[in-house]
Amino acid sequence: MRRLQTDILILGSGGAGLFAALHAHTIDPTLRITVAVKGLLGKCGCTRMVQGGYNVALAPGDSPERHFMDTVEGGGWLNNQDLVWTLVTEAPRRIRELENELGCFFDRNPDGTIHQKAFAGQTFDRTVHKGDLTGIEIVNRLAEQVWARNIGRLEEHRAIALVKSGRGEAIAGVVLIDMRTGDFVFVQAKAVVLATGGGPTMYRYHTPSGDKSCDGMAMVLRAGLSLRDMEMVQFHPTGLLAGIDTRLTGTIIEEGLRGAGGHLLDGAGERFMPRYDKRAERATRDIVSRAMFDQMRNGKTGPNGGVFFTMRHLDPALVRREFKGMVERCRDVGFDLVSGLVEVVPTAHYMMGGVEFAPDGATALPGLFAAGEDTGGVHGANRLGGNGVANSTVFGGLAGDAVAAWVKENGAWREPDVGDIDAAVAFASQPLQRPAGSLEPIRSALYDAMWEDVGIVRDAASLARGADVLADLDRRLDAVGVAADDLAFNLTWHDWLNLKNLVLVSRAIAAAATAREDSRGAHWRADFPQPSALDTSRYTQVRLRGSAIDVCSQPVAFTRVRPGESLIRDAAE
Ligand SMILES: Cc1cc2nc3c(=O)[nH]c(=O)nc-3n(C[C@H](O)[C@H](O)[C@H](O)COP(=O)(O)OP(=O)(O)OC[C@H]3O[C@@H](n4cnc5c(N)ncnc54)[C@H](O)[C@@H]3O)c2cc1C
Repeated sequence: MRRLQTDILILGSGGAGLFAALHAHTIDPTLRITVAVKGLLGKCGCTRMVQGGYNVALAPGDSPERHFMDTVEGGGWLNNQDLVWTLVTEAPRRIRELENELGCFFDRNPDGTIHQKAFAGQTFDRTVHKGDLTGIEIVNRLAEQVWARNIGRLEEHRAIALVKSGRGEAIAGVVLIDMRTGDFVFVQAKAVVLATGGGPTMYRYHTPSGDKSCDGMAMVLRAGLSLRDMEMVQFHPTGLLAGIDTRLTGTIIEEGLRGAGGHLLDGAGERFMPRYDKRAERATRDIVSRAMFDQMRNGKTGPNGGVFFTMRHLDPALVRREFKGMVERCRDVGFDLVSGLVEVVPTAHYMMGGVEFAPDGATALPGLFAAGEDTGGVHGANRLGGNGVANSTVFGGLAGDAVAAWVKENGAWREPDVGDIDAAVAFASQPLQRPAGSLEPIRSALYDAMWEDVGIVRDAASLARGADVLADLDRRLDAVGVAADDLAFNLTWHDWLNLKNLVLVSRAIAAAATAREDSRGAHWRADFPQPSALDTSRYTQVRLRGSAIDVCSQPVAFTRVRPGESLIRDAAE
Protein backbone atom coordinates (compact mmCIF):
# COMPACT_ATOMS: atom_id res chain seq x y z
CA MET A 1 0.00 0.00 0.00
CA ARG A 2 1.22 3.50 -0.85
CA ARG A 3 2.12 5.44 2.29
CA LEU A 4 2.29 9.23 2.52
CA GLN A 5 3.01 11.62 5.36
CA THR A 6 1.63 15.07 6.09
CA ASP A 7 1.30 17.26 9.16
CA ILE A 8 -2.39 18.02 8.70
CA LEU A 9 -4.76 16.03 6.53
CA ILE A 10 -8.03 17.73 5.62
CA LEU A 11 -10.82 15.55 4.25
CA GLY A 12 -13.13 17.48 1.91
CA SER A 13 -12.89 20.72 -0.04
CA GLY A 14 -16.19 22.49 0.67
CA GLY A 15 -16.43 25.67 2.71
CA ALA A 16 -15.29 23.84 5.85
CA GLY A 17 -12.30 22.02 4.35
CA LEU A 18 -10.99 24.96 2.31
CA PHE A 19 -11.30 27.39 5.21
CA ALA A 20 -9.54 24.90 7.50
CA ALA A 21 -6.67 24.61 5.00
CA LEU A 22 -6.29 28.38 4.56
CA HIS A 23 -6.43 29.17 8.27
CA ALA A 24 -3.99 26.42 9.23
CA HIS A 25 -1.62 27.66 6.53
CA THR A 26 -1.92 31.25 7.76
CA ILE A 27 -1.13 30.20 11.34
CA ASP A 28 1.98 28.32 10.23
CA PRO A 29 3.00 28.36 6.55
CA THR A 30 5.75 25.81 7.24
CA LEU A 31 3.21 23.08 8.06
CA ARG A 32 2.65 20.39 5.46
CA ILE A 33 -1.08 20.57 4.81
CA THR A 34 -2.85 18.19 2.44
CA VAL A 35 -6.46 18.38 1.26
CA ALA A 36 -7.81 14.97 0.19
CA VAL A 37 -11.07 15.08 -1.69
CA LYS A 38 -13.41 12.63 -3.37
CA GLY A 39 -13.93 14.96 -6.35
CA LEU A 40 -11.83 17.79 -7.80
CA LEU A 41 -10.86 20.59 -5.46
CA GLY A 42 -13.25 23.50 -5.87
CA LYS A 43 -15.61 21.54 -8.11
CA CYS A 44 -17.48 19.28 -5.72
CA GLY A 45 -19.52 19.29 -2.54
CA CYS A 46 -22.51 21.41 -1.57
CA THR A 47 -20.92 24.73 -0.64
CA ARG A 48 -20.50 25.29 -4.36
CA MET A 49 -24.24 24.71 -4.79
CA VAL A 50 -25.29 27.36 -2.25
CA GLN A 51 -27.87 29.48 -3.97
CA GLY A 52 -29.59 31.75 -1.47
CA GLY A 53 -26.84 32.98 0.78
CA TYR A 54 -25.15 33.47 4.09
CA ASN A 55 -26.72 34.63 7.39
CA VAL A 56 -24.83 37.28 9.28
CA ALA A 57 -25.89 40.14 11.53
CA LEU A 58 -24.42 43.23 9.82
CA ALA A 59 -27.14 45.83 9.34
CA PRO A 60 -28.21 48.45 11.88
CA GLY A 61 -31.11 47.03 13.87
CA ASP A 62 -29.82 43.49 13.64
CA SER A 63 -27.47 41.94 16.19
CA PRO A 64 -25.70 38.66 16.99
CA GLU A 65 -28.18 38.29 19.85
CA ARG A 66 -31.07 38.43 17.43
CA HIS A 67 -29.37 35.97 15.06
CA PHE A 68 -28.71 33.74 18.10
CA MET A 69 -32.36 33.78 19.19
CA ASP A 70 -33.64 33.03 15.69
CA THR A 71 -31.23 30.10 15.45
CA VAL A 72 -32.13 28.65 18.85
CA GLU A 73 -35.89 29.15 18.39
CA GLY A 74 -35.64 27.65 14.90
CA GLY A 75 -33.62 24.77 16.33
CA GLY A 76 -36.35 23.85 18.82
CA TRP A 77 -34.01 24.61 21.76
CA LEU A 78 -31.90 21.53 21.08
CA ASN A 79 -28.86 23.50 19.88
CA ASN A 80 -25.56 23.60 21.70
CA GLN A 81 -25.75 27.27 22.66
CA ASP A 82 -22.01 27.82 22.86
CA LEU A 83 -21.69 26.65 19.27
CA VAL A 84 -24.54 28.96 18.21
CA TRP A 85 -22.93 31.91 19.98
CA THR A 86 -19.65 31.18 18.20
CA LEU A 87 -21.51 31.00 14.88
CA VAL A 88 -23.31 34.32 15.23
CA THR A 89 -20.36 36.27 16.64
CA GLU A 90 -17.76 34.90 14.19
CA ALA A 91 -19.96 35.18 11.08
CA PRO A 92 -19.43 38.98 10.68
CA ARG A 93 -15.65 38.44 10.82
CA ARG A 94 -15.84 35.61 8.30
CA ILE A 95 -17.96 37.57 5.80
CA ARG A 96 -15.44 40.45 5.95
CA GLU A 97 -12.60 37.98 5.50
CA LEU A 98 -14.40 36.56 2.45
CA GLU A 99 -14.71 40.01 0.90
CA ASN A 100 -11.64 41.87 2.09
CA GLU A 101 -9.01 39.12 2.15
CA LEU A 102 -10.24 36.40 -0.19
CA GLY A 103 -11.80 38.48 -2.96
CA CYS A 104 -15.52 37.59 -2.85
CA PHE A 105 -17.89 40.33 -3.90
CA PHE A 106 -21.45 40.13 -2.62
CA ASP A 107 -24.46 42.09 -3.90
CA ARG A 108 -24.71 45.73 -2.81
CA ASN A 109 -27.37 48.27 -1.86
CA PRO A 110 -27.30 51.59 -3.75
CA ASP A 111 -25.42 53.15 -0.79
CA GLY A 112 -22.65 50.57 -1.09
CA THR A 113 -23.53 48.48 1.96
CA ILE A 114 -23.93 44.72 1.54
CA HIS A 115 -27.44 43.77 0.45
CA GLN A 116 -29.18 41.31 2.78
CA LYS A 117 -32.34 39.51 1.82
CA ALA A 118 -35.18 37.75 3.60
CA PHE A 119 -34.98 34.06 4.37
CA ALA A 120 -37.73 32.04 6.03
CA GLY A 121 -37.91 31.70 9.81
CA GLN A 122 -35.88 34.83 10.60
CA THR A 123 -36.91 38.07 12.26
CA PHE A 124 -34.49 40.18 10.20
CA ASP A 125 -33.39 40.23 6.56
CA ARG A 126 -29.80 39.08 7.13
CA THR A 127 -28.90 36.83 4.21
CA VAL A 128 -25.85 38.04 2.27
CA HIS A 129 -25.72 36.78 -1.31
CA LYS A 130 -24.24 36.99 -4.76
CA GLY A 131 -27.38 36.92 -6.89
CA ASP A 132 -28.81 33.46 -6.37
CA LEU A 133 -25.53 31.62 -6.97
CA THR A 134 -23.62 32.57 -3.82
CA GLY A 135 -21.70 29.31 -3.35
CA ILE A 136 -19.86 29.49 -6.65
CA GLU A 137 -18.48 32.91 -5.69
CA ILE A 138 -17.33 31.62 -2.29
CA VAL A 139 -15.79 28.34 -3.41
CA ASN A 140 -14.07 29.77 -6.49
CA ARG A 141 -12.30 32.41 -4.40
CA LEU A 142 -11.36 29.89 -1.68
CA ALA A 143 -10.05 27.38 -4.21
CA GLU A 144 -7.92 30.04 -5.95
CA GLN A 145 -6.33 30.89 -2.61
CA VAL A 146 -5.61 27.24 -1.86
CA TRP A 147 -4.11 26.72 -5.33
CA ALA A 148 -1.93 29.80 -4.84
CA ARG A 149 -0.43 28.51 -1.60
CA ASN A 150 1.81 25.66 -0.75
CA ILE A 151 -1.04 23.29 0.15
CA GLY A 152 -0.93 19.69 -1.06
CA ARG A 153 -3.83 18.10 -2.92
CA LEU A 154 -5.00 14.52 -3.23
CA GLU A 155 -7.88 14.86 -5.64
CA GLU A 156 -10.16 11.94 -6.48
CA HIS A 157 -8.98 10.32 -3.27
CA ARG A 158 -11.77 8.93 -1.18
CA ALA A 159 -11.28 8.51 2.58
CA ILE A 160 -12.63 5.18 3.83
CA ALA A 161 -11.43 4.85 7.44
CA LEU A 162 -10.01 6.89 10.29
CA VAL A 163 -7.04 5.08 11.81
CA LYS A 164 -6.06 5.45 15.46
CA SER A 165 -2.63 5.05 16.94
CA GLY A 166 -1.62 1.60 18.21
CA ARG A 167 -2.65 2.47 21.76
CA GLY A 168 -5.83 4.16 20.54
CA GLU A 169 -5.03 7.45 22.28
CA ALA A 170 -5.09 9.70 19.18
CA ILE A 171 -5.60 9.79 15.43
CA ALA A 172 -2.70 8.40 13.39
CA GLY A 173 -3.97 8.82 9.84
CA VAL A 174 -6.56 7.86 7.25
CA VAL A 175 -6.95 5.05 4.71
CA LEU A 176 -8.04 6.31 1.30
CA ILE A 177 -8.68 4.89 -2.14
CA ASP A 178 -7.00 6.63 -5.05
CA MET A 179 -10.08 6.55 -7.27
CA ARG A 180 -8.00 7.08 -10.41
CA THR A 181 -6.26 3.71 -9.97
CA GLY A 182 -8.20 1.86 -7.29
CA ASP A 183 -5.10 1.63 -5.10
CA PHE A 184 -5.29 1.93 -1.33
CA VAL A 185 -3.25 4.73 0.25
CA PHE A 186 -2.44 5.27 3.92
CA VAL A 187 -1.82 8.91 4.82
CA GLN A 188 -0.12 9.28 8.17
CA ALA A 189 -0.99 12.64 9.72
CA LYS A 190 -0.35 14.39 13.01
CA ALA A 191 -3.91 15.69 12.91
CA VAL A 192 -6.97 15.29 10.68
CA VAL A 193 -9.87 17.65 9.92
CA LEU A 194 -13.06 15.85 8.94
CA ALA A 195 -15.06 18.03 6.52
CA THR A 196 -16.78 15.58 4.16
CA GLY A 197 -20.11 17.33 4.50
CA GLY A 198 -22.77 14.73 5.49
CA GLY A 199 -25.43 14.71 2.78
CA PRO A 200 -28.82 12.94 3.07
CA THR A 201 -28.63 11.25 -0.32
CA MET A 202 -30.44 8.16 1.00
CA TYR A 203 -33.86 9.74 0.32
CA ARG A 204 -35.78 9.36 -2.95
CA TYR A 205 -35.66 13.13 -3.51
CA HIS A 206 -32.50 14.88 -2.36
CA THR A 207 -30.48 18.01 -3.08
CA PRO A 208 -26.81 17.36 -2.21
CA SER A 209 -24.09 16.79 -4.76
CA GLY A 210 -23.59 13.22 -5.96
CA ASP A 211 -20.18 12.89 -4.27
CA LYS A 212 -21.78 13.03 -0.84
CA SER A 213 -22.79 9.80 0.86
CA CYS A 214 -22.34 10.46 4.58
CA ASP A 215 -18.81 9.01 4.41
CA GLY A 216 -17.53 11.14 7.30
CA MET A 217 -20.38 10.18 9.62
CA ALA A 218 -19.97 6.50 8.76
CA MET A 219 -16.22 6.68 9.41
CA VAL A 220 -16.86 8.40 12.75
CA LEU A 221 -19.32 5.68 13.79
CA ARG A 222 -16.90 2.90 12.80
CA ALA A 223 -14.14 4.67 14.77
CA GLY A 224 -16.31 4.40 17.91
CA LEU A 225 -17.28 8.09 18.27
CA SER A 226 -20.82 9.27 18.81
CA LEU A 227 -23.11 11.32 16.56
CA ARG A 228 -25.85 13.58 17.94
CA ASP A 229 -29.29 14.67 16.66
CA MET A 230 -29.32 12.13 13.83
CA GLU A 231 -33.12 12.06 13.66
CA MET A 232 -33.02 15.68 12.48
CA VAL A 233 -33.00 15.57 8.68
CA GLN A 234 -34.08 18.73 6.94
CA PHE A 235 -36.33 18.65 3.91
CA HIS A 236 -36.28 21.72 1.70
CA PRO A 237 -39.79 22.48 0.51
CA THR A 238 -39.08 23.46 -3.08
CA GLY A 239 -37.34 20.59 -4.84
CA LEU A 240 -38.01 20.54 -8.56
CA LEU A 241 -40.23 17.67 -9.63
CA ALA A 242 -39.64 17.27 -13.32
CA GLY A 243 -40.13 13.54 -13.80
CA ILE A 244 -37.84 10.58 -13.26
CA ASP A 245 -35.63 10.97 -16.29
CA THR A 246 -33.78 14.10 -15.17
CA ARG A 247 -31.19 14.43 -12.41
CA LEU A 248 -32.61 17.91 -11.80
CA THR A 249 -35.57 16.29 -10.03
CA GLY A 250 -34.89 16.83 -6.33
CA THR A 251 -32.59 19.82 -6.84
CA ILE A 252 -33.91 23.00 -5.33
CA ILE A 253 -35.14 26.38 -6.27
CA GLU A 254 -34.01 28.65 -3.49
CA GLU A 255 -35.70 29.79 -0.32
CA GLY A 256 -35.45 33.49 -1.21
CA LEU A 257 -38.30 32.82 -3.66
CA ARG A 258 -40.63 32.15 -0.74
CA GLY A 259 -39.06 35.09 1.10
CA ALA A 260 -39.87 37.32 -1.90
CA GLY A 261 -43.55 36.34 -1.81
CA GLY A 262 -43.89 33.15 -3.90
CA HIS A 263 -46.96 30.99 -3.26
CA LEU A 264 -47.53 27.25 -2.97
CA LEU A 265 -50.68 25.87 -4.61
CA ASP A 266 -52.26 22.43 -4.48
CA GLY A 267 -53.04 20.41 -7.62
CA ALA A 268 -56.29 22.34 -8.06
CA GLY A 269 -54.49 25.71 -7.90
CA GLU A 270 -55.59 26.60 -4.32
CA ARG A 271 -53.12 28.29 -1.96
CA PHE A 272 -52.86 26.15 1.19
CA MET A 273 -50.02 27.44 3.41
CA PRO A 274 -52.07 30.11 5.29
CA ARG A 275 -54.17 27.22 6.71
CA TYR A 276 -51.05 25.65 8.26
CA ASP A 277 -49.11 28.63 9.65
CA LYS A 278 -49.66 32.35 10.05
CA ARG A 279 -46.35 33.02 8.31
CA ALA A 280 -47.72 31.02 5.33
CA GLU A 281 -44.94 30.28 2.78
CA ARG A 282 -42.40 32.10 5.00
CA ALA A 283 -42.78 29.54 7.79
CA THR A 284 -39.72 27.38 8.53
CA ARG A 285 -38.77 24.56 6.17
CA ASP A 286 -40.10 21.79 8.42
CA ILE A 287 -43.57 23.32 8.62
CA VAL A 288 -43.81 24.02 4.90
CA SER A 289 -42.49 20.55 3.98
CA ARG A 290 -45.02 18.83 6.26
CA ALA A 291 -47.88 20.89 4.86
CA MET A 292 -46.86 19.92 1.31
CA PHE A 293 -46.50 16.25 2.32
CA ASP A 294 -50.00 16.42 3.81
CA GLN A 295 -51.41 17.79 0.54
CA MET A 296 -49.57 15.07 -1.38
CA ARG A 297 -50.82 12.28 0.90
CA ASN A 298 -54.34 13.60 0.40
CA GLY A 299 -53.90 13.35 -3.35
CA LYS A 300 -54.00 17.12 -3.99
CA THR A 301 -51.15 16.95 -6.43
CA GLY A 302 -49.84 18.01 -9.81
CA PRO A 303 -49.12 15.56 -12.67
CA ASN A 304 -45.90 14.19 -11.13
CA GLY A 305 -47.31 13.81 -7.60
CA GLY A 306 -46.02 17.13 -6.16
CA VAL A 307 -47.62 20.55 -5.57
CA PHE A 308 -47.11 23.83 -7.43
CA PHE A 309 -44.98 26.88 -6.73
CA THR A 310 -45.68 30.18 -8.44
CA MET A 311 -44.39 33.76 -8.64
CA ARG A 312 -46.84 34.83 -11.36
CA HIS A 313 -48.62 37.31 -9.05
CA LEU A 314 -45.33 39.26 -8.58
CA ASP A 315 -43.56 41.78 -10.80
CA PRO A 316 -42.06 39.70 -13.65
CA ALA A 317 -39.12 42.07 -14.07
CA LEU A 318 -38.23 41.70 -10.40
CA VAL A 319 -38.38 37.91 -10.58
CA ARG A 320 -36.20 37.87 -13.72
CA ARG A 321 -33.69 40.29 -12.21
CA GLU A 322 -33.43 38.92 -8.66
CA PHE A 323 -33.67 35.20 -9.46
CA LYS A 324 -31.96 34.87 -12.82
CA GLY A 325 -30.32 31.52 -11.98
CA MET A 326 -33.58 30.06 -10.70
CA VAL A 327 -35.53 31.23 -13.75
CA GLU A 328 -32.94 29.49 -15.96
CA ARG A 329 -32.93 26.33 -13.87
CA CYS A 330 -36.71 26.05 -14.11
CA ARG A 331 -36.57 26.71 -17.84
CA ASP A 332 -34.02 23.89 -18.22
CA VAL A 333 -36.68 21.39 -17.13
CA GLY A 334 -39.60 23.03 -18.94
CA PHE A 335 -41.09 25.21 -16.15
CA ASP A 336 -41.81 28.95 -16.35
CA LEU A 337 -40.94 30.49 -12.98
CA VAL A 338 -41.90 34.03 -14.02
CA SER A 339 -45.45 33.52 -15.19
CA GLY A 340 -46.31 29.84 -14.83
CA LEU A 341 -46.45 26.96 -12.36
CA VAL A 342 -43.44 24.95 -11.20
CA GLU A 343 -44.10 21.49 -9.77
CA VAL A 344 -42.19 20.95 -6.54
CA VAL A 345 -41.71 18.32 -3.83
CA PRO A 346 -40.01 18.45 -0.40
CA THR A 347 -36.47 17.17 -0.90
CA ALA A 348 -33.91 15.89 1.64
CA HIS A 349 -31.43 18.71 2.00
CA TYR A 350 -29.34 18.80 5.11
CA MET A 351 -28.50 16.79 8.22
CA MET A 352 -28.56 18.79 11.42
CA GLY A 353 -26.97 15.83 13.22
CA GLY A 354 -23.34 14.82 13.12
CA VAL A 355 -20.22 14.31 15.15
CA GLU A 356 -20.08 16.09 18.50
CA PHE A 357 -17.45 18.81 18.55
CA ALA A 358 -16.21 21.82 20.50
CA PRO A 359 -16.26 25.39 19.10
CA ASP A 360 -12.62 24.99 18.01
CA GLY A 361 -13.46 21.80 16.07
CA ALA A 362 -11.98 19.32 18.56
CA THR A 363 -13.75 15.95 18.82
CA ALA A 364 -13.53 13.21 21.44
CA LEU A 365 -10.55 11.67 19.60
CA PRO A 366 -7.39 13.74 20.16
CA GLY A 367 -6.03 15.05 16.86
CA LEU A 368 -9.35 14.59 15.04
CA PHE A 369 -11.09 17.90 14.33
CA ALA A 370 -14.38 18.33 12.49
CA ALA A 371 -16.31 21.17 10.87
CA GLY A 372 -19.26 21.81 8.58
CA GLU A 373 -22.12 19.48 7.79
CA ASP A 374 -20.32 16.47 9.29
CA THR A 375 -20.91 17.98 12.73
CA GLY A 376 -23.96 18.22 14.98
CA GLY A 377 -25.13 20.67 17.63
CA VAL A 378 -25.11 24.04 15.86
CA HIS A 379 -28.58 23.85 14.34
CA GLY A 380 -30.42 21.71 16.90
CA ALA A 381 -33.67 20.34 15.48
CA ASN A 382 -33.77 22.56 12.41
CA ARG A 383 -31.35 24.66 10.39
CA LEU A 384 -32.30 28.12 9.25
CA GLY A 385 -31.70 28.71 5.56
CA GLY A 386 -28.44 30.70 5.30
CA ASN A 387 -26.93 29.19 8.46
CA GLY A 388 -25.39 26.24 6.57
CA VAL A 389 -22.63 28.02 4.72
CA ALA A 390 -22.10 30.31 7.73
CA ASN A 391 -21.60 27.14 9.79
CA SER A 392 -19.13 25.51 7.40
CA THR A 393 -17.01 28.63 6.85
CA VAL A 394 -17.01 29.85 10.47
CA PHE A 395 -16.16 26.49 12.00
CA GLY A 396 -13.87 25.46 9.13
CA GLY A 397 -11.74 28.53 9.84
CA LEU A 398 -11.75 27.92 13.59
CA ALA A 399 -10.82 24.27 13.10
CA GLY A 400 -7.93 25.38 10.87
CA ASP A 401 -6.66 27.75 13.58
CA ALA A 402 -6.98 25.09 16.28
CA VAL A 403 -5.51 22.19 14.33
CA ALA A 404 -2.39 24.19 13.48
CA ALA A 405 -1.96 25.12 17.15
CA TRP A 406 -2.59 21.52 18.22
CA VAL A 407 0.05 20.18 15.85
CA LYS A 408 2.59 22.64 17.24
CA GLU A 409 1.83 21.53 20.80
CA ASN A 410 1.16 17.83 20.40
CA GLY A 411 2.42 17.17 16.92
CA ALA A 412 3.92 13.77 16.30
CA TRP A 413 3.38 11.11 13.71
CA ARG A 414 1.93 8.25 15.66
CA GLU A 415 2.36 4.63 14.66
CA PRO A 416 -0.99 3.48 13.29
CA ASP A 417 -2.90 0.47 14.52
CA VAL A 418 -2.10 -1.96 11.71
CA GLY A 419 -5.24 -3.92 12.56
CA ASP A 420 -7.32 -0.79 11.73
CA ILE A 421 -5.64 -0.45 8.34
CA ASP A 422 -6.05 -4.13 7.46
CA ALA A 423 -9.68 -4.06 8.55
CA ALA A 424 -10.37 -1.00 6.37
CA VAL A 425 -8.82 -2.64 3.30
CA ALA A 426 -10.66 -5.92 3.94
CA PHE A 427 -13.96 -4.06 4.39
CA ALA A 428 -13.64 -2.08 1.17
CA SER A 429 -12.34 -5.02 -0.86
CA GLN A 430 -15.04 -7.51 0.12
CA PRO A 431 -17.46 -6.93 -2.80
CA LEU A 432 -14.57 -7.43 -5.23
CA GLN A 433 -14.26 -11.07 -4.11
CA ARG A 434 -17.86 -11.94 -5.06
CA PRO A 435 -19.55 -12.48 -8.42
CA ALA A 436 -20.88 -9.18 -9.75
CA GLY A 437 -24.53 -8.35 -9.10
CA SER A 438 -26.76 -5.28 -9.41
CA LEU A 439 -26.87 -2.48 -6.85
CA GLU A 440 -29.89 -0.79 -8.41
CA PRO A 441 -32.61 -2.74 -6.52
CA ILE A 442 -30.78 -2.02 -3.25
CA ARG A 443 -30.56 1.71 -3.94
CA SER A 444 -34.17 1.88 -4.94
CA ALA A 445 -35.31 -0.01 -1.81
CA LEU A 446 -33.20 2.36 0.31
CA TYR A 447 -34.83 5.42 -1.32
CA ASP A 448 -38.31 4.00 -0.76
CA ALA A 449 -37.75 2.97 2.86
CA MET A 450 -36.25 6.31 3.85
CA TRP A 451 -38.85 8.39 2.00
CA GLU A 452 -41.91 6.39 3.08
CA ASP A 453 -40.95 5.24 6.58
CA VAL A 454 -38.11 7.41 7.98
CA GLY A 455 -38.98 10.68 6.20
CA ILE A 456 -41.02 13.81 6.78
CA VAL A 457 -43.68 12.09 8.92
CA ARG A 458 -42.79 9.05 11.04
CA ASP A 459 -44.35 6.85 13.69
CA ALA A 460 -43.25 3.82 15.70
CA ALA A 461 -44.65 1.35 13.16
CA SER A 462 -43.09 3.05 10.12
CA LEU A 463 -39.73 3.37 11.88
CA ALA A 464 -39.76 -0.32 12.84
CA ARG A 465 -40.59 -1.21 9.25
CA GLY A 466 -37.81 1.09 7.99
CA ALA A 467 -35.27 -0.39 10.42
CA ASP A 468 -36.11 -3.93 9.23
CA VAL A 469 -35.64 -2.95 5.60
CA LEU A 470 -32.32 -1.24 6.38
CA ALA A 471 -31.00 -4.32 8.21
CA ASP A 472 -32.00 -6.42 5.22
CA LEU A 473 -30.32 -4.00 2.78
CA ASP A 474 -27.10 -4.22 4.77
CA ARG A 475 -27.21 -8.02 4.48
CA ARG A 476 -27.90 -7.74 0.75
CA LEU A 477 -24.91 -5.42 0.31
CA ASP A 478 -22.76 -7.96 2.12
CA ALA A 479 -23.86 -10.60 -0.38
CA VAL A 480 -23.64 -8.66 -3.66
CA GLY A 481 -20.40 -8.45 -5.65
CA VAL A 482 -18.74 -5.87 -7.89
CA ALA A 483 -16.71 -6.64 -11.03
CA ALA A 484 -13.02 -6.32 -10.14
CA ASP A 485 -11.42 -6.46 -13.60
CA ASP A 486 -10.62 -2.72 -13.64
CA LEU A 487 -10.43 -0.73 -10.42
CA ALA A 488 -9.58 2.63 -12.05
CA PHE A 489 -12.65 4.87 -11.67
CA ASN A 490 -14.69 1.80 -10.85
CA LEU A 491 -17.91 3.67 -10.14
CA THR A 492 -19.85 0.54 -9.21
CA TRP A 493 -17.32 -0.20 -6.48
CA HIS A 494 -17.66 3.37 -5.18
CA ASP A 495 -21.41 3.05 -5.36
CA TRP A 496 -21.20 -0.04 -3.18
CA LEU A 497 -19.09 1.92 -0.68
CA ASN A 498 -21.55 4.83 -0.86
CA LEU A 499 -24.48 2.51 -0.19
CA LYS A 500 -22.71 0.80 2.70
CA ASN A 501 -22.20 4.20 4.35
CA LEU A 502 -25.69 5.45 3.53
CA VAL A 503 -27.31 2.34 4.98
CA LEU A 504 -25.25 2.60 8.18
CA VAL A 505 -26.10 6.28 8.65
CA SER A 506 -29.75 5.60 7.74
CA ARG A 507 -29.83 3.03 10.54
CA ALA A 508 -28.51 5.75 12.88
CA ILE A 509 -31.29 8.11 11.71
CA ALA A 510 -33.98 5.46 12.21
CA ALA A 511 -32.65 4.50 15.66
CA ALA A 512 -32.51 8.12 16.87
CA ALA A 513 -35.97 8.83 15.39
CA THR A 514 -37.39 5.80 17.21
CA ALA A 515 -35.88 6.94 20.50
CA ARG A 516 -37.22 10.51 20.26
CA GLU A 517 -40.86 10.21 21.30
CA ASP A 518 -41.88 13.78 20.63
CA SER A 519 -42.07 16.13 17.66
CA ARG A 520 -39.45 18.81 17.40
CA GLY A 521 -38.19 20.82 14.42
CA ALA A 522 -37.56 18.54 11.47
CA HIS A 523 -38.55 15.40 13.41
CA TRP A 524 -42.29 14.79 13.26
CA ARG A 525 -43.79 11.75 14.99
CA ALA A 526 -47.43 11.28 13.99
CA ASP A 527 -47.84 9.21 17.18
CA PHE A 528 -46.24 11.93 19.39
CA PRO A 529 -47.22 15.19 17.66
CA GLN A 530 -46.40 17.48 20.60
CA PRO A 531 -42.93 18.73 21.57
CA SER A 532 -41.84 17.54 25.02
CA ALA A 533 -41.14 20.18 27.70
CA LEU A 534 -38.52 22.56 26.32
CA ASP A 535 -36.77 23.25 29.61
CA THR A 536 -35.94 19.55 30.12
CA SER A 537 -34.87 19.05 26.50
CA ARG A 538 -32.54 16.17 25.72
CA TYR A 539 -30.62 15.43 22.54
CA THR A 540 -29.99 11.96 21.14
CA GLN A 541 -26.58 10.33 20.82
CA VAL A 542 -25.91 7.26 18.68
CA ARG A 543 -22.90 5.00 18.68
CA LEU A 544 -21.96 1.76 16.96
CA ARG A 545 -21.45 -1.19 19.34
CA GLY A 546 -20.37 -4.22 17.35
CA SER A 547 -22.90 -4.14 14.56
CA ALA A 548 -25.71 -2.65 16.68
CA ILE A 549 -26.65 1.02 16.91
CA ASP A 550 -26.90 2.17 20.52
CA VAL A 551 -28.98 5.25 21.34
CA CYS A 552 -28.96 7.31 24.50
CA SER A 553 -29.79 10.92 25.30
CA GLN A 554 -28.16 13.82 27.10
CA PRO A 555 -29.68 16.93 28.68
CA VAL A 556 -29.32 20.13 26.65
CA ALA A 557 -27.20 22.64 28.60
CA PHE A 558 -28.87 26.06 28.38
CA THR A 559 -25.58 27.88 28.82
CA ARG A 560 -26.80 31.29 27.60
CA VAL A 561 -30.56 31.43 27.63
CA ARG A 562 -33.39 29.22 28.88
CA PRO A 563 -36.66 28.55 27.04
CA GLY A 564 -38.98 31.50 27.60
CA GLU A 565 -36.06 33.95 28.01
CA SER A 566 -34.49 36.12 25.34
CA LEU A 567 -30.97 37.36 24.81
CA ILE A 568 -32.35 40.29 22.84
CA ARG A 569 -34.05 41.72 25.91
CA ASP A 570 -30.89 41.13 27.96
CA ALA A 571 -28.84 42.95 25.34
CA ALA A 572 -31.19 45.93 25.32
CA GLU A 573 -31.21 46.34 29.10
C1 LIG B 1 -28.50 22.91 -3.58
C2 LIG B 1 -28.05 23.42 -2.25
C3 LIG B 1 -28.26 24.74 -1.93
C4 LIG B 1 -27.85 25.23 -0.68
N1 LIG B 1 -28.07 26.54 -0.41
C5 LIG B 1 -27.67 27.03 0.78
C6 LIG B 1 -27.86 28.41 1.10
O1 LIG B 1 -28.39 29.19 0.31
N2 LIG B 1 -27.41 28.86 2.30
C7 LIG B 1 -26.80 28.03 3.20
O2 LIG B 1 -26.43 28.48 4.26
N3 LIG B 1 -26.60 26.72 2.92
C8 LIG B 1 -27.02 26.20 1.74
N4 LIG B 1 -26.80 24.88 1.47
C9 LIG B 1 -26.11 24.05 2.45
C10 LIG B 1 -24.60 24.25 2.35
O3 LIG B 1 -24.16 23.90 1.08
C11 LIG B 1 -23.88 23.40 3.38
O4 LIG B 1 -24.41 23.71 4.62
C12 LIG B 1 -22.41 23.66 3.56
O5 LIG B 1 -21.88 24.53 2.63
C13 LIG B 1 -21.65 22.37 3.62
O6 LIG B 1 -20.26 22.65 3.68
P1 LIG B 1 -19.22 21.49 3.99
O7 LIG B 1 -17.87 22.06 3.74
O8 LIG B 1 -19.51 20.89 5.30
O9 LIG B 1 -19.53 20.35 2.91
P2 LIG B 1 -19.44 20.38 1.31
O10 LIG B 1 -19.36 21.74 0.76
O11 LIG B 1 -20.52 19.51 0.81
O12 LIG B 1 -18.05 19.68 1.01
C14 LIG B 1 -17.83 18.31 1.30
C15 LIG B 1 -16.55 17.89 0.63
O13 LIG B 1 -16.15 16.60 1.11
C16 LIG B 1 -15.81 15.78 0.00
N5 LIG B 1 -15.97 14.37 0.40
C17 LIG B 1 -17.11 13.69 0.62
N6 LIG B 1 -16.82 12.42 1.00
C18 LIG B 1 -15.47 12.32 1.00
C19 LIG B 1 -14.57 11.26 1.28
N7 LIG B 1 -14.99 10.05 1.64
N8 LIG B 1 -13.23 11.49 1.17
C20 LIG B 1 -12.77 12.73 0.79
N9 LIG B 1 -13.59 13.76 0.50
C21 LIG B 1 -14.91 13.56 0.62
C22 LIG B 1 -16.71 16.26 -1.10
O14 LIG B 1 -16.23 15.85 -2.35
C23 LIG B 1 -16.63 17.76 -0.87
O15 LIG B 1 -15.45 18.28 -1.42
C24 LIG B 1 -27.22 24.37 0.23
C25 LIG B 1 -27.01 23.03 -0.10
C26 LIG B 1 -27.42 22.57 -1.33
C27 LIG B 1 -27.21 21.11 -1.65
